[in-house]
Amino acid sequence: MNNILLTDIKFLKGVGPKRAEILGKELGIHTYYDLLYHLPFRYIDKTHIHTIKEISGDMPSIQLKGRFFTFTTQGEGARKRLHALFTDGTGNIEIVWFNSVKRMKESLSVGKEYIIFGKPTLFNNRYSISHPEIEDYKPNSESQGLRGIYTLTDKMRNSNFSSRTFQQLEDSLLSTIKNIDETLPKFILDQYKLMGLHEALYNIHKPQSIHDLQRAQLRLKFDELFFLQLNILRYAKSRNSKILGHKFEHIGDFFNNFYNNALPFPLTGAQKRVIKEIRRDVGSGRQMNRLLQGDVGSGKTLVAVMSTLIALDNGYQACIIAPTEILASQHYISVSEMLSTIGVNIALLTGSTKKSERERIHEQLMNGELDILIGTHAVLEDTVNFNNLGLVVIDEQHRFGVAQRAKMWQKNTTPPHILVMTATPIPRTLAMTVYGDLDVSVIDELPPGRKPVTTVLRFDEHRQMVYRFIGEQLKLGRQIYIVYPLIQENEKLDLQNLEEGYNTIRETFPSYRVCFVHGKMRPAEKEHQMQLFVTHQAHIMVATTVIEVGVNVPNASVMVIENAERFGLAQLHQLRGRVGRGADQSYCILMSHQKLSKDTRHRLNVMTNTNDGFIVAEEDMKLRGPGDMEGTQQSGISFNLRIANLAHDGQIVQLARDIANEIIDKDPTLSLPENQTLTRQLSFLFQKQANWSLIS
Ligand code: ADP
Ligand code: MG
Repeated sequence: MNNILLTDIKFLKGVGPKRAEILGKELGIHTYYDLLYHLPFRYIDKTHIHTIKEISGDMPSIQLKGRFFTFTTQGEGARKRLHALFTDGTGNIEIVWFNSVKRMKESLSVGKEYIIFGKPTLFNNRYSISHPEIEDYKPNSESQGLRGIYTLTDKMRNSNFSSRTFQQLEDSLLSTIKNIDETLPKFILDQYKLMGLHEALYNIHKPQSIHDLQRAQLRLKFDELFFLQLNILRYAKSRNSKILGHKFEHIGDFFNNFYNNALPFPLTGAQKRVIKEIRRDVGSGRQMNRLLQGDVGSGKTLVAVMSTLIALDNGYQACIIAPTEILASQHYISVSEMLSTIGVNIALLTGSTKKSERERIHEQLMNGELDILIGTHAVLEDTVNFNNLGLVVIDEQHRFGVAQRAKMWQKNTTPPHILVMTATPIPRTLAMTVYGDLDVSVIDELPPGRKPVTTVLRFDEHRQMVYRFIGEQLKLGRQIYIVYPLIQENEKLDLQNLEEGYNTIRETFPSYRVCFVHGKMRPAEKEHQMQLFVTHQAHIMVATTVIEVGVNVPNASVMVIENAERFGLAQLHQLRGRVGRGADQSYCILMSHQKLSKDTRHRLNVMTNTNDGFIVAEEDMKLRGPGDMEGTQQSGISFNLRIANLAHDGQIVQLARDIANEIIDKDPTLSLPENQTLTRQLSFLFQKQANWSLIS
């Protein structure tokens, strides 16, 4: 890193104190470095000038060369607009401004030659362009390659800042710095034929061709992702080598007894593999931090249970935490049942556990009588202390924050092994970044005999058809879920929707029992309604998304999602996972309005086209961006990458990670002379960032 890059931006030729203030306030640009890395968000192709006559159909933004010949102001006050006619000799086109009317009118002249750039749109059978970029035409300035377009705020536009201004400032900066120090070692540059940093920064601002631009982008994306991975991995590795864990040396009676006599079904290949991975971790003498990803219904619970038995076999206690009471108590019931012949002492601790029971649990945890504690956030409380906690399983991990995970570390002097599980598949590139410090196991195989859920999209006009279908399924003895969205801002209306739905369903299916569940119910009532469905006393459950996680009713074969357009992909996939758990063919029916935006239509199509949670997750990330994915907010990692995009640059992420891994393996503390550049760059980039990986 050149020291000159830390120079205050006000000293750059063409900036000065006033512009410096605006740059700082509006875009956080304070130094040469900040300006250099303020990259264009798109480019315009200055290699070609179109003619007005050629304009047709749905064109992208194009460049025209010509003259304005009239300006007229229309409307008053806030509705004031400026219209101009622009001609290039082949025809004319209307140009419109909805703001900056006065400024535009004053700065443009009739008859003078300009280059304008914008997207033609058809309105009232005529093409027009609104708010084009405009510059004076200079005879020798044609064919300037590509031109960067930069982020600007309204305030900046009003102070006469334009993309052009940025181009000039970047020019001035690049010629002032002369030479930008390389941040990557030569062997990486050579091996992967990456552009040098100086050349890449030059080309990202002023590319002469698409090819140059692409090479510059690759280099800078790689830089960004590589240092991110290097930073994550160096802490992960140093932590792994430092933090001792309980050594679970042997497999004993609990595990063997269960495996030989009480296993409810043969393990799938994937379950076996993951259990092996866990055994290797917990036997290594270092603390395990493992993420277990597996689609809904893939059988993670069994893996969790068998892991706890290894802890018990070695004289330790274990704990399973779930995000909701319903889920925790369901785990409690199914785990107790599975282990009923093994002779383990299991308890359930949630927010609604009675005081006397809670006191008993506290005591038994302390004196070691209790083997497995299952619970909700209540387990995290400081008053909950163990005699010798060896393993913690956190289910549906995306509902917990990093800080909460860290709390469990403190429940024993040597931190317990941690297994976090999630059914919200995370795209690999994201997992590598957010959970870069965790080892990842994947259950990529469903238990045998499952038929893929058939998913269809139906509009309101098909409702009678859908009801007929539900009727047929009920006759076959199956159970049905009908789910309504519940959005906080309009709770009242949503609840009304839900109640209306409930009444309609009762009237439509009078001979069947319908139960009713939503988040605002008293826990006991909710529990009661759920139990009606679980025990098959009720045939249809009308509910909000409270059923999203965990409920396991293999006899349910139809999931109807009302207003499916209001759900995100992750949620839709979770809901669909409630059916298809038994051997019967199951169905997921997405009900929606006809009028859908392009994104929504795409989302629903993803659902009808695939059952694969990982594909759903990839698409979700492309639509929403990595920063909005579940679980990423608590990660402490900034997703404000300047140029790389985790949703689209998967291959570069992988490459960056592989190289970073190789380097850290050879030199865990990055102290070899050839890695000095890397260390310096890391401390420059990450000096301000809190390091979550140290505690997670
Ligand atoms: P999830 O991964 O969503 O937590 P669960 O652990 O709840 O999945 O398992 C889903 C269902 O699959 C349960 O009914 C469970 O009993 C069953 N199951 C789990 N493993 C197997 C297996 N190896 N063979 C058959 N069924 C299994
Ligand atoms: Mg589960």
